[in-house]
Amino acid sequence: MKVIYVSSEISPAAKVGGLADVTLGLSRAIQGMGNQVAVVLPKYSCLKTKYFDHLSPTETVFKIFFGKIEYQVQIWTAKLYDLTLYLIDAISPKPFFDNLKIYGHHNDNLKFAFFSLAALEFIARYHSDVDIIHVNEWHTSLLPLLYQEKYKSQFECKTVLTLHNVSYQGVAKASLLKKVGLDIDRYLPICRDPKDASKINLLKSGIIFADFITTVSPRYHDEIKRAPNGHGLEPELNQYQHKLKGILNGIDYEIWNPATDTALKDHFDVGHVEDKKAVKERLRDLTHLPHGKDKPLVICICRLVPQKGISIIKHAIFQTLRLKGQFLLFGSSPITKIQKSFERLKTQLANCPDVKFIFESYNEEFSHQIFAGADMLIAPSLFEPCGLTQLIALRYGTVPIVRETGGLADTVFDAQNHPMANDCGNGFTFQEPTTKAFDEAIERAFEMYHLNPKQWHEIIQHGMLMNYSWQNSAKKYFDIYSKLIIKKEASPIEYQTKAS
Ligand code: ADP
Repeated sequence: MKVIYVSSEISPAAKVGGLADVTLGLSRAIQGMGNQVAVVLPKYSCLKTKYFDHLSPTETVFKIFFGKIEYQVQIWTAKLYDLTLYLIDAISPKPFFDNLKIYGHHNDNLKFAFFSLAALEFIARYHSDVDIIHVNEWHTSLLPLLYQEKYKSQFECKTVLTLHNVSYQGVAKASLLKKVGLDIDRYLPICRDPKDASKINLLKSGIIFADFITTVSPRYHDEIKRAPNGHGLEPELNQYQHKLKGILNGIDYEIWNPATDTALKDHFDVGHVEDKKAVKERLRDLTHLPHGKDKPLVICICRLVPQKGISIIKHAIFQTLRLKGQFLLFGSSPITKIQKSFERLKTQLANCPDVKFIFESYNEEFSHQIFAGADMLIAPSLFEPCGLTQLIALRYGTVPIVRETGGLADTVFDAQNHPMANDCGNGFTFQEPTTKAFDEAIERAFEMYHLNPKQWHEIIQHGMLMNYSWQNSAKKYFDIYSKLIIKKEASPIEYQTKAS
């Protein structure tokens, strides 16, 4: 089977959030099952190219119209681990992907519509033997509609859309349809944004036109069909539920492995959890947290956006200090007001040695050291489609304290209250998005950490022994692909680069 992923992110070279990890992890797992796989991405000027092998321009240059302007598109190739990447560059009359950040620019809608069109044109010209085109989020959700309307007569394939977070939908001017060569009168009524009738909703177009849709956890699959979790798209998510399935994200167990992780100087595994202490001490050194008394180290690693439960995160810092623990916050906010409020908190707590704020939006290596060195991770999200930080924490023997929502509810089982706690209790959970509910959970965690080290050790082991690798989930994707495709022989993906 030949599968091409079209995505706006890939870890670690173009990462903003979990989408990047999923693009890498799922595509590698599907390739590992013996399929032909490639990933198509924009050639952003902010790509971290140090992670690539053999980045080079190819001879492949073609032209597409975007509105009235004819663009010249050039394809680059690179290897990331063992994956083949194709990078789409718009070289003239003006560059499209030269922003300093991946998102947050006035031309985001245009940029990703152009990318979807150029990616599809590239596939049609050079990979028309593809069986599945798998698109992700609103950024590439226009592709299934473009395929149905403009390319289906040229080649036969199926499209799959993964919804990683329905709160981001890509609401754009209706004129965007015209730019990609679609009839406004025909498609505006179909793709109309539920909140602004003059605009189109790119995610909605994907939900309607993709052959299959997945969400990133079974619980989120159920949640988005009800308001407010579908963010206005509940009617479509219910109408098309026959082609909608929730598949839990995984993490790459080769990259995230406490026994072999190259970002760590000390290693540990499920049989030697006590060796994790050395990693904690090194992390305390690195972050200037005091050594000495064995205080539990609580971490929060995330994009600081409202979804993540900002007020509970702030409260958790004070609650951890009250319980005589240490707190490390790692991340930043794309929203100035929120970022400033955390900076004020940092100033307010400047004399408190047991709390550290590191406002780095993304530092892959350092994040490994933090996940591995901590005792507990908090994820008090208001909603969480899947959540990867709790999966990484579990793998590194760091006990998650999470709100029971979306993928958090599917993966973390309360060590005291879950009916199967003795077999699978791996963390602490709470239901209501309130500081009171959070306090009850973190207090139970601290009590067990201090008073019942044997049970604490057991829940660490339960977490480390769980299998949230991509292998399980990739099999489910493969089953969906298999049911969708019309069997046909795929030819190898080969590319002539200028360098070779
Ligand atoms: P979301 O996609 O909503 O941002 P997820 O939990 O699904 O949330 O994925 C977030 C990913 O980004 C995880 O892999 C997490 O480890 C990573 N991450 C978050 N903040 C940072 C940071 N400051 N440095 C490195 N990685 C980070």
